[in-house]
Amino acid sequence: MSKILDLLNEQQRDGVLTTEGPVLILAGAGSGKTRVLTHRAAYLIDEKGVAPYQIMAITFTNKAAEEMRERINKLVSFGGEAVWVATFHSSCVKILRRFADRVGYDSRFTIYDGDDQKSLIKDVCKYLDIDTKIHKERSFLSVISHAKENLVGPETFLQEAAGDFNRTRQGQVYREYQARLKANNALDFDDLIMKTVELLRGDSTVREYYQRRFHYIMVDEYQDTNTAQFELVRLLADGYRNLCVVGDDDQSIYRFRGANIYNILHFEEHYPDAKVIKLEQNYRSTQNILTAANGVIANNTGRKDKSLWTDSGEGEKVLLKQFDSAYEEAEFVADSIASLVRRGEYSYRDCAILYRTNAQSRLLEEKLVADNIPYKIFGGVNFYARREVKDLVSYLKVIDNAQDDLAVRRVLNVPRRGIGATSMDRVQAYANSNGLDFYQAMTRAGQIQGLARAAAKILAFISLIERARQVLAQEGISKSLLYIIDQTGYVEGLKAEGTDEARARIDNIDELINKVILYEQETEEPSLNDFLEQVSLVADIDQLEESADYVSLMTLHSAKGLEFPNVYLVGMEDGLFPSYMSITAENADEEIEEERRLAYVGITRAKEHLTVTAARMRMVRGEMQYASLSRFVEEIPAEAIDGNLPDRNRADAFAWENAEGPCYGSVAYARGNAAEIRKKTSAQKYAAAAKNFGDGGKEPLDYQVGDRVFHLKFGEGQVTSLVDGGRDYEVTVDFDRVGSKKMFATFAKLQRI
Ligand code: ATP
Ligand code: MG
Repeated sequence: MSKILDLLNEQQRDGVLTTEGPVLILAGAGSGKTRVLTHRAAYLIDEKGVAPYQIMAITFTNKAAEEMRERINKLVSFGGEAVWVATFHSSCVKILRRFADRVGYDSRFTIYDGDDQKSLIKDVCKYLDIDTKIHKERSFLSVISHAKENLVGPETFLQEAAGDFNRTRQGQVYREYQARLKANNALDFDDLIMKTVELLRGDSTVREYYQRRFHYIMVDEYQDTNTAQFELVRLLADGYRNLCVVGDDDQSIYRFRGANIYNILHFEEHYPDAKVIKLEQNYRSTQNILTAANGVIANNTGRKDKSLWTDSGEGEKVLLKQFDSAYEEAEFVADSIASLVRRGEYSYRDCAILYRTNAQSRLLEEKLVADNIPYKIFGGVNFYARREVKDLVSYLKVIDNAQDDLAVRRVLNVPRRGIGATSMDRVQAYANSNGLDFYQAMTRAGQIQGLARAAAKILAFISLIERARQVLAQEGISKSLLYIIDQTGYVEGLKAEGTDEARARIDNIDELINKVILYEQETEEPSLNDFLEQVSLVADIDQLEESADYVSLMTLHSAKGLEFPNVYLVGMEDGLFPSYMSITAENADEEIEEERRLAYVGITRAKEHLTVTAARMRMVRGEMQYASLSRFVEEIPAEAIDGNLPDRNRADAFAWENAEGPCYGSVAYARGNAAEIRKKTSAQKYAAAAKNFGDGGKEPLDYQVGDRVFHLKFGEGQVTSLVDGGRDYEVTVDFDRVGSKKMFATFAKLQRI
């Protein structure tokens, strides 16, 4: 047999050999679905003499497309590069660049991104006299997007809306929006698919051309296709009906983008003659990792039942670690990777850190940089390179030092102040001829010729910066940052957008605020300049020499289809994952099931080692919050876990801290077991701590106002005030050496002396 068929099990081989007719391969993670597709393409070319250009393979991300092309090229003798391997969107761009004129567009059409769409919809709302304070622009965009995902055009939308005032208005906005797109010869992202479907439906020449061209069509990650994408595939495949789709309903994680899980569940209804193949052997992970994954996903209802097995042995158990703070969690992950690499057990590239939201990367990045560990963020950029973080850090730079021209120019029109390029040139010319820097010149905007109305706008900007400087001098860095955020309406603007992307940006801003507050609490003499220096140390990592060996960081969504020997799932806390939004949603049951599928995707990325971590306390919007372990972790069968299941042990950990004075309870309890800890603790104290935990987790303090206390960094001082902040006490201490400091009791870890 050939190498193409040799390396497959019987069911996989069946998938490769069943080249004719519709095929559905429905199988769990790591069972070799993607492998079947690549081997199938290779088999068609090498064994069946199919011309490579007659084969189409659709993937979900560009990275997946690249990998698939590479794998096919390795398997076939020649011609692999002529296979059509692309994502849905790039496939449609390719088709439309050729035939867009047949649906009324010029083939040099532009593709509108989110920002373009926003400004277009703004114009439309203005034109239609819609009060965007009541009817948000963003909500129109999401209605339009949803309609397009379901192939509903503006006219149909309006017909269906008849009699419903609200829907009718949405339809009018949709119609106008679409008309303007067309007038601009532009397509938005959803149009790419919908217009291609329109083209194939309406134009028999083009339809037949592609139907004749593609003898074999394959779709990976089929569970995440939406209605429009399904229709596209169906149209293309209607000539030969050689359509092979592979997917896993347990990994459907894009429902919020219109992915229609029924596409997979109902494939057999669309294609009654479909051959259904199930793959049950997992080749990726050890048994313990699989047991964990199966245990978690079993809690979802209405699944197609699948059972995965492996013969790769038990392997290591899933390591569970719960820390006092997210800070310690990040430190642990970085140290763990550093020591594995030092011991030669893994390379950096074998390791991946996966998290629920992008904002979580900040702490991890800082620890990785501190440990000199190369890393790369996939599906996003480094924390300090994110637009909103850069904007606000630039504001801080301007507040600190207005000679930083780059920073000044960056924020001058954030948010838009209508200060145009001509005005800026005039300011620059004035600066040049008077030997001033740009900012100084702006302070004299009133005297600069030809600025007209821009002068007032510039002076308003200057006064914002000056006021922020006063806040800085009187109340510190975090307050001046908050002042800027408030005065510029930065977060307000994002809130109004209401998209997932905007929410992620707000998360990042919150994370920056956390960073500043912690910096102020932990630094003896905090200064803005010193803070910015710290930030630039992490931010400049971008300029470090590119290495091919790096740790991969990404959200769980971006991790789909990938695999790594050593995986860390971090931030496994209720409220973070599953997200607070899903827990509190009206349809919480469904939302949590979607989050659970995401957890399943995360767990099944690991080949050999899986470490699951959580923090008991995490700073959220500048406030310490207690978090209990993610319910998904509690769903992992105990026999697959190494580490104590926390709920019954949290009280132990706290008791341990109280008995022994300030120490890291997590370290103690990760090493020892609960019984040992309990032995060291008097029954009474244990009970008190346990009870206290039930009251919200605040530690009882063994000092009061007036007591002398010791702090690790600041030395000795006297407690001057104690405020019960709900989740934690705010303690103010007058230190002998550094003066008065306000801190969270849990963080300060003060000792009475
Ligand atoms: P996911 O659902 O996560 O996308 P998948 O079902 O697509 O997973 P693959 O990525 O194709 O799974 O395969 C998982 C791993 O198992 C890969 O490293 C692949 O090379 C390996 N593998 C698959 N089938 C076999 C086989 N028959 N023999 C040896 N290794 C295999
Ligand atoms: Mg796959």
